Amino acid sequence: MIKVGLTGGIGSGKTTVANMFRILGVDIYSADSEAKVLMENNKELKTSIISLLGEESYLNQSLNSAFIASRVFNNPGLLEKLNLLVHPVVREDFADWIEERKSAPYIIQESAILFESGFSSFFNYTILVTADIDTRIDRVAKRDKMKRSAIIARIEQQMSDEEKLKYADFQLNNSVNKLLIPQVLELHNKFVSLHRKKNINGKI
Ligand code: ATP
Repeated sequence: MIKVGLTGGIGSGKTTVANMFRILGVDIYSADSEAKVLMENNKELKTSIISLLGEESYLNQSLNSAFIASRVFNNPGLLEKLNLLVHPVVREDFADWIEERKSAPYIIQESAILFESGFSSFFNYTILVTADIDTRIDRVAKRDKMKRSAIIARIEQQMSDEEKLKYADFQLNNSVNKLLIPQVLELHNKFVSLHRKKNINGKI
């Protein structure tokens, strides 16, 4: 099985791209949404989060994402401590998920922090979804009814595309003047043929 990591900055279109691969029959593990599920349902993790950030981290047993985000926003030390609790649990869950899909030609993990998490070396290939900044701001403003200034603040907190491009094996350009579907199809065909070659040669 070929393991592919998919990432992109806020509003770049990584979830849209993940959905296109899903339509092609590819199994997708969404690290960000699975992390939320685990933070809500994994008892040990829940206890550690309450110890780190306080009881307010959960409201009526549900994850209080707004509170957690406000605690770690602009507090890199606390964010790192939270990540040290959450990431190992997500990685274990992902390992179990992969185990159940051993016969798949390839799978994709979608993650907003693929390169920042230090987990990208686990993948055989990585894909970065990009779009110009103005397009990303417009799309997020429309989707989340967020103020432009708040979106810009989020973008500034993330690793830049220029930096991420140094690590990515493939780029999918999702700017307004680019057609996304042919780019996704090309990559899909590439991964399928790489898997075939791997089976013939016994290596990747
Ligand atoms: P986030 O990191 O904020 O979750 P994301 O990278 O997953 O964002 P998406 O949610 O896939 O981005 O896309 C952001 C918004 O832009 C969505 O509303 C999506 O429908 C829209 N969008 C994405 N790609 C395109 C496109 N090529 N044309 C038009 N709208 C698009």
